[in-house]
Amino acid sequence: MHRGEYANGTNNERMDLYRRCEKEGVGISVMKPFSGGQLLEDRTSPFGKKLTRIQCIQYALDKPGVLTVLPGIRGKEDLLEILKYVTASEEEKDYSIIGNFTPIDAKGKCVYCNHCMPCPAGLDIGLINKYYDLARLGDNLAKDHYMNLEKTAKDCITCGHCNMRCPFKVNQVDRMKEIKEYFGK
Ligand code: SF4
Ligand code: SF4
Repeated sequence: MHRGEYANGTNNERMDLYRRCEKEGVGISVMKPFSGGQLLEDRTSPFGKKLTRIQCIQYALDKPGVLTVLPGIRGKEDLLEILKYVTASEEEKDYSIIGNFTPIDAKGKCVYCNHCMPCPAGLDIGLINKYYDLARLGDNLAKDHYMNLEKTAKDCITCGHCNMRCPFKVNQVDRMKEIKEYFGK
Protein backbone atom coordinates (compact mmCIF):
# COMPACT_ATOMS: atom_id res chain seq x y z
CA MET A 1 0.00 0.00 0.00
CA HIS A 2 2.94 2.32 -0.75
CA ARG A 3 3.87 2.27 2.93
CA GLY A 4 6.13 0.22 5.16
CA GLU A 5 8.94 -2.06 4.13
CA TYR A 6 7.10 -5.08 2.83
CA ALA A 7 4.68 -3.78 0.22
CA ASN A 8 6.80 -2.98 -2.80
CA GLY A 9 5.18 -1.74 -6.00
CA THR A 10 1.78 -0.19 -6.47
CA ASN A 11 -1.44 -1.83 -5.43
CA ASN A 12 -2.37 -2.32 -9.09
CA GLU A 13 0.95 -3.95 -9.94
CA ARG A 14 0.53 -6.44 -7.11
CA MET A 15 -3.06 -7.24 -8.08
CA ASP A 16 -1.93 -7.87 -11.67
CA LEU A 17 0.71 -10.27 -10.39
CA TYR A 18 -1.81 -12.19 -8.24
CA ARG A 19 -4.19 -12.49 -11.19
CA ARG A 20 -1.42 -13.62 -13.51
CA CYS A 21 -0.41 -16.32 -11.02
CA GLU A 22 -3.99 -17.56 -10.77
CA LYS A 23 -4.29 -17.60 -14.56
CA GLU A 24 -1.01 -19.52 -15.00
CA GLY A 25 -1.89 -21.98 -12.24
CA VAL A 26 0.80 -20.74 -9.86
CA GLY A 27 -0.21 -21.00 -6.22
CA ILE A 28 0.96 -18.22 -3.90
CA SER A 29 2.04 -18.73 -0.30
CA VAL A 30 1.86 -15.44 1.57
CA MET A 31 4.80 -14.86 3.91
CA LYS A 32 4.54 -12.28 6.67
CA PRO A 33 0.75 -11.80 6.53
CA PHE A 34 1.06 -9.50 9.57
CA SER A 35 3.87 -7.53 7.92
CA GLY A 36 6.36 -8.78 10.50
CA GLY A 37 3.86 -8.02 13.29
CA GLN A 38 3.61 -4.34 12.28
CA LEU A 39 -0.05 -4.60 11.36
CA LEU A 40 -1.06 -5.90 14.79
CA GLU A 41 -0.48 -2.68 16.75
CA ASP A 42 -1.70 0.90 16.26
CA ARG A 43 1.79 2.12 17.11
CA THR A 44 3.58 0.16 14.37
CA SER A 45 0.90 -0.25 11.71
CA PRO A 46 1.68 1.83 8.59
CA PHE A 47 -2.00 2.81 8.68
CA GLY A 48 -1.90 3.97 12.31
CA LYS A 49 -4.64 1.41 13.09
CA LYS A 50 -4.15 -2.19 14.04
CA LEU A 51 -5.80 -5.21 12.43
CA THR A 52 -6.34 -8.61 14.00
CA ARG A 53 -4.49 -11.72 12.88
CA ILE A 54 -7.76 -13.14 11.59
CA GLN A 55 -8.42 -10.05 9.43
CA CYS A 56 -4.89 -10.14 8.00
CA ILE A 57 -5.13 -13.85 7.16
CA GLN A 58 -8.52 -13.42 5.46
CA TYR A 59 -7.29 -10.42 3.47
CA ALA A 60 -4.37 -12.47 2.13
CA LEU A 61 -6.49 -15.55 1.36
CA ASP A 62 -9.01 -13.48 -0.61
CA LYS A 63 -6.42 -12.44 -3.17
CA PRO A 64 -6.40 -14.35 -6.48
CA GLY A 65 -3.92 -17.23 -6.58
CA VAL A 66 -3.32 -17.28 -2.83
CA LEU A 67 -3.50 -20.79 -1.36
CA THR A 68 -2.01 -20.36 2.07
CA VAL A 69 -0.43 -18.01 4.56
CA LEU A 70 2.78 -18.61 6.52
CA PRO A 71 2.95 -16.39 9.59
CA GLY A 72 6.04 -16.42 11.79
CA ILE A 73 5.44 -18.35 14.99
CA ARG A 74 7.48 -17.72 18.14
CA GLY A 75 5.87 -20.42 20.25
CA LYS A 76 2.71 -22.18 21.33
CA GLU A 77 0.92 -18.95 22.24
CA ASP A 78 1.36 -17.53 18.71
CA LEU A 79 0.24 -20.81 17.19
CA LEU A 80 -2.94 -20.89 19.28
CA GLU A 81 -3.70 -17.28 18.32
CA ILE A 82 -3.29 -18.06 14.60
CA LEU A 83 -5.40 -21.22 14.79
CA LYS A 84 -8.35 -19.12 15.99
CA TYR A 85 -8.81 -18.33 12.28
CA VAL A 86 -10.17 -21.85 11.76
CA THR A 87 -13.22 -21.22 13.97
CA ALA A 88 -13.55 -17.46 13.41
CA SER A 89 -16.95 -15.99 12.53
CA GLU A 90 -17.61 -14.02 9.35
CA GLU A 91 -17.68 -10.83 11.47
CA GLU A 92 -14.23 -11.57 12.84
CA LYS A 93 -12.91 -12.18 9.31
CA ASP A 94 -14.35 -8.92 7.97
CA TYR A 95 -11.42 -6.61 7.20
CA SER A 96 -13.49 -3.90 5.51
CA ILE A 97 -12.23 -1.41 8.09
CA ILE A 98 -9.21 -1.03 5.80
CA GLY A 99 -11.50 0.84 3.40
CA ASN A 100 -11.16 3.74 5.86
CA PHE A 101 -7.40 3.87 5.49
CA THR A 102 -6.87 2.68 1.95
CA PRO A 103 -4.78 4.97 -0.29
CA ILE A 104 -6.64 6.94 -2.94
CA ASP A 105 -5.51 4.70 -5.82
CA ALA A 106 -7.19 1.65 -4.28
CA LYS A 107 -10.55 3.39 -3.97
CA GLY A 108 -13.19 2.25 -6.45
CA LYS A 109 -11.51 -1.14 -6.95
CA CYS A 110 -13.18 -4.30 -5.76
CA VAL A 111 -10.97 -6.33 -3.41
CA TYR A 112 -13.51 -9.20 -3.23
CA CYS A 113 -14.09 -8.79 0.50
CA ASN A 114 -17.88 -9.26 0.32
CA HIS A 115 -18.51 -6.62 2.96
CA CYS A 116 -21.34 -5.41 0.69
CA MET A 117 -23.21 -8.69 1.16
CA PRO A 118 -25.89 -9.89 1.48
CA CYS A 119 -27.23 -9.10 -1.98
CA PRO A 120 -31.04 -9.29 -2.06
CA ALA A 121 -30.84 -10.92 -5.49
CA GLY A 122 -28.49 -13.63 -4.17
CA LEU A 123 -25.37 -12.65 -6.11
CA ASP A 124 -21.94 -13.55 -4.72
CA ILE A 125 -20.57 -10.10 -5.44
CA GLY A 126 -16.91 -10.68 -4.52
CA LEU A 127 -16.67 -13.91 -6.48
CA ILE A 128 -18.37 -12.44 -9.55
CA ASN A 129 -15.89 -9.56 -9.52
CA LYS A 130 -12.93 -11.87 -9.06
CA TYR A 131 -13.97 -14.08 -12.00
CA TYR A 132 -14.51 -11.00 -14.15
CA ASP A 133 -11.07 -9.54 -13.43
CA LEU A 134 -9.42 -12.90 -14.05
CA ALA A 135 -11.39 -13.64 -17.23
CA ARG A 136 -10.35 -10.30 -18.70
CA LEU A 137 -6.74 -11.40 -18.28
CA GLY A 138 -7.46 -14.51 -20.34
CA ASP A 139 -8.18 -16.96 -17.51
CA ASN A 140 -10.56 -19.40 -19.21
CA LEU A 141 -11.12 -21.39 -16.04
CA ALA A 142 -12.43 -18.27 -14.30
CA LYS A 143 -14.71 -17.68 -17.28
CA ASP A 144 -16.04 -21.23 -17.01
CA HIS A 145 -16.64 -20.78 -13.29
CA TYR A 146 -18.55 -17.61 -13.97
CA MET A 147 -20.67 -19.24 -16.67
CA ASN A 148 -21.62 -21.97 -14.19
CA LEU A 149 -22.71 -19.61 -11.42
CA GLU A 150 -26.33 -19.91 -10.44
CA LYS A 151 -26.67 -16.12 -10.14
CA THR A 152 -24.78 -13.84 -12.45
CA ALA A 153 -24.59 -10.11 -13.11
CA LYS A 154 -27.75 -10.28 -15.21
CA ASP A 155 -29.70 -11.04 -12.00
CA CYS A 156 -28.66 -7.72 -10.43
CA ILE A 157 -31.76 -5.67 -9.68
CA THR A 158 -29.70 -2.46 -9.33
CA CYS A 159 -31.00 -1.89 -5.80
CA GLY A 160 -27.76 -0.11 -4.82
CA HIS A 161 -27.40 -1.86 -1.46
CA CYS A 162 -23.85 -2.93 -2.28
CA ASN A 163 -22.85 0.59 -3.35
CA MET A 164 -23.93 1.92 0.03
CA ARG A 165 -22.08 -0.79 1.95
CA CYS A 166 -18.79 -0.92 0.04
CA PRO A 167 -15.99 0.65 2.11
CA PHE A 168 -13.86 0.94 -1.04
CA LYS A 169 -16.44 3.12 -2.81
CA VAL A 170 -16.89 0.67 -5.69
CA ASN A 171 -19.81 1.51 -7.96
CA GLN A 172 -20.98 -2.06 -8.09
CA VAL A 173 -24.25 -1.25 -9.84
CA ASP A 174 -22.31 0.00 -12.88
CA ARG A 175 -19.84 -2.81 -12.55
CA MET A 176 -22.57 -5.45 -12.70
CA LYS A 177 -23.81 -3.91 -15.96
CA GLU A 178 -20.26 -4.03 -17.33
CA ILE A 179 -19.84 -7.65 -16.20
CA LYS A 180 -23.15 -8.69 -17.75
CA GLU A 181 -22.10 -7.10 -21.01
CA TYR A 182 -18.74 -8.88 -20.95
CA PHE A 183 -20.06 -12.38 -20.28
CA GLY A 184 -23.41 -11.94 -22.00
CA LYS A 185 -25.18 -13.07 -18.81
S1 SF4 B 1 -17.91 -4.19 -3.94
FE1 SF4 B 1 -16.76 -3.42 -2.20
S2 SF4 B 1 -17.59 -4.49 -0.41
FE2 SF4 B 1 -18.25 -5.62 -2.23
S3 SF4 B 1 -16.71 -7.21 -2.53
FE3 SF4 B 1 -16.06 -5.45 -3.77
S4 SF4 B 1 -14.71 -4.26 -2.44
FE4 SF4 B 1 -15.82 -5.66 -1.11
S1 SF4 C 1 -27.09 -3.60 -6.81
FE1 SF4 C 1 -27.15 -5.65 -7.68
S2 SF4 C 1 -25.34 -6.68 -6.89
FE2 SF4 C 1 -25.70 -4.86 -5.61
S3 SF4 C 1 -26.88 -5.62 -3.88
FE3 SF4 C 1 -28.33 -4.85 -5.42
S4 SF4 C 1 -28.87 -6.64 -6.66
FE4 SF4 C 1 -27.04 -7.17 -5.49
